[in-house]
Amino acid sequence: MSEQNIPYEQSELYRLRHSAAHVMAEAVKELFPEAKLAIGPPIEDGFYYDFDLGKDENGKARTFTPEDLEKIELRFKELLKQNAKFEQYTLTVEQALVHFADQPYKLELIRDLAAGKVDEMGNPTTEPAQEVGIYQHRQFIDLCRGPHVGYTSQVRANAVKILRASGAYWRGDEKNPQLQRIYGTAWPNKVELDDYLKRLEEARNRDHRRLGKQLGLFHISQLVGSGLPLWLPNGAILREELERFLRQAQLDRGYLPVITPHIGKLDLYITSGHYPYYKDSQYTPIDVDGEQFMLKPMNCPHHIEIYKSESRSYRDLPLRLAEFGTVYRYEQSGELTGLTRVRGFTVDDSHLFVTPEQLEAEFIGVVSLIQHVFNTMGFHDFRARLGTNDPESDKYAGTPEMWAQGIKAIRQAADKVGMNYTLEVGEAAFYGPKLDFIFRDVLKREWQLGTVQVDFLLPQRFDLEYTGEDGQKHRPVMIHRAPFGSMERFVGILIEHFNGAFPLWLAPVQVMMVPITDRHNEYARQVAQELRAAGLRVQVDESDDRMNKKIRNAQLQKIPYMLVVGDKEAEAHGVAVRTRTGEDRGTVAVAAFKAQALILTTGKSMEL
Ligand SMILES: [Zn+2]
Ligand SMILES: [Zn+2]
Repeated sequence: MSEQNIPYEQSELYRLRHSAAHVMAEAVKELFPEAKLAIGPPIEDGFYYDFDLGKDENGKARTFTPEDLEKIELRFKELLKQNAKFEQYTLTVEQALVHFADQPYKLELIRDLAAGKVDEMGNPTTEPAQEVGIYQHRQFIDLCRGPHVGYTSQVRANAVKILRASGAYWRGDEKNPQLQRIYGTAWPNKVELDDYLKRLEEARNRDHRRLGKQLGLFHISQLVGSGLPLWLPNGAILREELERFLRQAQLDRGYLPVITPHIGKLDLYITSGHYPYYKDSQYTPIDVDGEQFMLKPMNCPHHIEIYKSESRSYRDLPLRLAEFGTVYRYEQSGELTGLTRVRGFTVDDSHLFVTPEQLEAEFIGVVSLIQHVFNTMGFHDFRARLGTNDPESDKYAGTPEMWAQGIKAIRQAADKVGMNYTLEVGEAAFYGPKLDFIFRDVLKREWQLGTVQVDFLLPQRFDLEYTGEDGQKHRPVMIHRAPFGSMERFVGILIEHFNGAFPLWLAPVQVMMVPITDRHNEYARQVAQELRAAGLRVQVDESDDRMNKKIRNAQLQKIPYMLVVGDKEAEAHGVAVRTRTGEDRGTVAVAAFKAQALILTTGKSMEL
């Protein structure tokens, strides 16, 4: 935490973890002499190393068992304590090829280094290497550019842990051999390690895939397909509430709704430049009667065609078109998880067509809408990041003037609303710079959510125009924006942030009626009907369970209120109020409960 100002790659912690990776690989090599080593970089919160253990008797890739991992961890710790110095030197390519003769993955890396394709960490480069960097401690020699700590004992044995093993493909490509990846973590001391392990445990408990099942929010069917979540009733209610909230906020700000289809002609995306720029993340075109169609990877071109559907004058601008538009992107199956990495998702998308004079004010309007959304969700810990093009890269389209103009507009708008941001080169969209909003959840994990992008390019590609006050044709500027980002991802993050205990207005079931015996079912139904008529989401637990079990079940479902009803309540037209947090608020009149719940719901309160 004290190294916040230094990039991770230059930090002491990075060195520590990189060194830990080497020593762990040394332990694996000792215990599994036949293991072939791939690569082992530090990552956020730890490190990994990839190994090829050969095939088992069934011809399948041999994997690490939990017992293997225990043994490796034990040996790893011993080796750390047996102090050895990390020595750095270089070998010529020829020497390296000889030294790593029995390590096929290292050989491939050395050849790629020599050909100028990758560096020692497997990252792309363009410099052909004459020599390769080596780090050695004891007999363990690795292709490496470092940096490392001085001695193995600087990585403290009581501050490291092996976390798990999983399959990984060589160079992340499913066509390559499957490797066994061991994830580990290393910290400066035991206190920090324990703290991290506690956070990890908490994150596991909050895992949105686990809670999504427990709370009936979504389901992944292998017959439908990985990465294509099915929204269950509770999840659909939650999502619709979010959409309703944003729709209203947009209507209040002069946005107009549109609806567009899920596919479009390939030519549309060739014109926009999404094809071939995003070719790798798109699905193969579909042939329909000799014409090529694509699953929509982006909503922008469709909205642009709506802009072009009539001639526009300056009086029509700004034109703000909004849609919850579902798009499809190809993700490798290994990368798919729950709601956060999917193949089809719905963007709370909008495109604003504005005159150059309106750009700054409209950009500020969008930023304030995003702030409104985050404040309503109780997301107070967030930061902004300005992503610009990398002038060295050919990934970006448009002229340097367009980029400069866009970046200037974002900077001016951010300065005007007093918003701090960091600058990140190479984080832009291909058509223009963008401002991303990054939220830190209760577990201090960062998630990129909302985004605003300024675009001079697509208006040019589609030859957009409007008639100005001067009677001449002018080119509008586009703003792309999505406060949530994607509904799937946003809900996934929401589930983990709130640990499934959503604010009242979002809770799929807000009230569970708990009749004490089945004699009270009728009264419970009456009250439920009365509350539903007022717009609250209410269920009645008419099971044979005893009252305490019913309350417990509702708490597990994280339902905000449990209203217990027996003879006394029925007589007084009242309810005994319990909350999911375990509070017993005693008996109140139905009307009083209803009024209070409605105030909290309409106010989108975080309180119960
Ligand atoms: Zn290394
Ligand atoms: Zn767009």
